[in-house]
Order: sequence, then structure tokens, then C-alpha cells
Amino acid sequence: MRAFEAVQYYFDQAAEILELPAAVRETLLMAKREVTVQVTIERDNGELATFVGYRVQHNNSRGPMKGGLRYHHEVNLDEVRSLASLMTWKTAVVDLPYGGAKGGIGVNPRELSLREKERLTRAFVDQLRDVVGPDRDIPAPDMGTDFRVMSWFRHQWEKYHGFNPAVITGKPVEEYGAKGREEATGRGVGILTTKLIGRLGKKAEKCRVAIQGFGNVGSHAAKFLHDAQFPIVAVSDVTGTYYNPEGLNIPDILRYILEHPQGQLSGYSNCEHLPSDALLELEEVEILIPAALGGVITAENVDRIRAPIIIEGANGPLFPLADKLLHERGVIVLPDILANAGGVTVSYFEWVQNRQHYRWSLDRVRRELEHTLVDAFEHVWETSQQHDVSLRTAAFIIAIRRVRRAWELAGR
Ligand code: GLU
Repeated sequence: MRAFEAVQYYFDQAAEILELPAAVRETLLMAKREVTVQVTIERDNGELATFVGYRVQHNNSRGPMKGGLRYHHEVNLDEVRSLASLMTWKTAVVDLPYGGAKGGIGVNPRELSLREKERLTRAFVDQLRDVVGPDRDIPAPDMGTDFRVMSWFRHQWEKYHGFNPAVITGKPVEEYGAKGREEATGRGVGILTTKLIGRLGKKAEKCRVAIQGFGNVGSHAAKFLHDAQFPIVAVSDVTGTYYNPEGLNIPDILRYILEHPQGQLSGYSNCEHLPSDALLELEEVEILIPAALGGVITAENVDRIRAPIIIEGANGPLFPLADKLLHERGVIVLPDILANAGGVTVSYFEWVQNRQHYRWSLDRVRRELEHTLVDAFEHVWETSQQHDVSLRTAAFIIAIRRVRRAWELAGR
């Protein structure tokens, strides 16, 4: 199944309950605009290299479109389209005044030098300069991009349009970035996990956690949950699974990562070492957090997933059939469009600060993040009880209702 079909499947589950007419479904599902561009750069050795870049603008009924930029060798139009529509539903679930978009380049960023990455980003902006803008479509970081890429993007865009840092979020804190943006997605995962556990009447100390992926989302989620007394028994990245049934020493691992700036766990030895895939299937884990790539839990491995609670730190980590089978087994899944919405929420705070030329304290960012996510969680929880559906279908019900309402109010 292709990535976009997966989102469509989830959308349809909710659309069915809302009794949405077919013509309305079609309008809400299809992207407004899809842009494919050539991105050519000169490598450091003088040779030319050409890549394909995308920006899919899915929906702007609720405000300017918003969503990250992904640099990854598997980026393609179908994936970007699915991620763009997820952004529409994500911003609607947490009630941000935004629509949804997503972009990216099919490139392996690890094969680029820093200067090549800068040239690539600037060449991409040259192609997208009139497609994006602070009132139109506001990009942000995603896999393979970070605050440096955001800064190059902003400065290149400003060469055409003049000063306006609100064109992109996730910028360096020294350069109009928001305090707390970098930690926001992982922190949000932590806040919502704590909230869900509370609702289920469980205690943090008794919930063993396994986190797949130790990048921006996984590492910040681990830190938050460790501080909240959850035993984190396993974390993984491409180099393997790092496991201790008694609980890993997370501060020690975070220190290790800082001392090994290639950002991988390779060589960390204070625990058991298993293959990467082993993490998903660990026996004694109450909470599984896939926080890396999409499509990791499929019809093929779903029978071996033991955790009764799954928090989708990544976008689209479960395939629909796996999601359905897990739901039938009583596994609780906190869906991506809520679970990882902390990032775009603090992006919104950054954009607001940029537009007001006013800076919030880290405390304020964290407080308002918690407030926004907890509100959204309560609403999703109640909706799932009311309709007797999964948390994912409940989140889609809320999101579709909001987007449809805005679309109808605008008239034609
Ligand atoms: N890429 C992130 C996401 O998937 C953040 C998007 C944003 O901040 O606009 O939600």
C-alpha cells in the first residue's frame, strides 16, 4: 500500500461516521497544489548533481499551510503527499490556525558536505520562492533537516522578498527561533504519554518504555519520560537496539550522544546490544514509541508486537491493516496527528513571536505547549468514548469536522 492510500484509509473511517458526501471527501482529500522542481548543485569536487524537490500544499481552509521539509533518499511525491495531508489533520486536531503542507528532496543528506547542503537548500528556495511565504506556506524541520537548513532557507528567501523570519520555523534560537522548538516534538510525546497513562489508571514507574529512533524526537521523548519516572528499557537507531530490562541510564546515553557528534549510539556499551529490529518485538514492554521512519509496523510483523500501548512519535509508522489488527486486539494507539503535534505547535508559537517581534521565555513555551496538547488529548479521548472508536478515528473526526466547517464558512 502506498503512503497516501494509508492516510486516505484513516480519513475514510472517520468520513464514514461523519456521513461525509463523496464529493466533499474528494475535495478534502486531494491536495490543492503539488510542485515538483529540479534542484541542481555543484558538488565540492566541481561535478554537477541533480535532485528532485517537492512541495505539496494540501489544504488552506483553516489558514496558511504548514509543514516540514524532509531530506531523505526515499522522499517521493506519494510520500510527500501523504505527509502534507497528515499536516492538515494534525494542525486541525490541535486547533492551530493553519492548513497542511510538506516538502522535501530525494537526497541522502549524509552524503553531502555542509556547504553542499547549503547550496542544495538555496537552490531549492530559488525554485520555491513564490510558492512559500509567511501568509501562504511556512516550512519547518523534518527528517534530515535542522535549524541550519532553516536559517539558509530563510536568508535565501529574504534575498527575493526582504526581511521576514516568519517564512519558516525551527530557526536557530539566536536568529528568531523559539526557545523550546527543538525539544518540542519529543516533549509533546512525553506529555501525551503521561496523560494517556493517567487516563488508563497506570503508574509511570510500572510502564516500561521502548523507543525506536534516537534522533530529535526519540531522544527528547526519552529525556522527558525518564525525568517523569518511566523506566526506558530500550532505545534503538540504525546501529542496533540498546537494552536493559531494569531501565537504561538515559542521562548517560544522552551524554554519550553529545560526545559522539555523528549522533548515533554505535559503541555505547553500558547495556545489552540487540539488532535494530528487535526493539519493536520486545516482550516486557508496556509502551512502544516508534519515533523514526514511517511504515515500520506492517501486516507482516504485527503479530509479534507485544506492547499494549503504542505512541506514534513518527509520522505514519503503522500500516492500516496493522492498525486495524492492533485495535481488534485491544492495543491502544495514540495517533501521529496528535502524538507528534508538539513540534508544529511550538512552530506556531515561533511564527507568532516573529510576527510580534516579541520573545517568549522557555517556561511560557512549555506551559502553552502542555496546555494545547492536553486540551487536544481530552477532546480526542472524549470523542473516542462517544463514538466507540479508536483514538485515531476520533482524532480524524475532530480534524475533518474543523476543516469542513472552515471550508463551508468561506463559501464559494
Ligand atoms: N515536521 C514536523 C511535523 O511533521 C513539524 C512541522 C512544523 O513544525 O511545521 O509535524
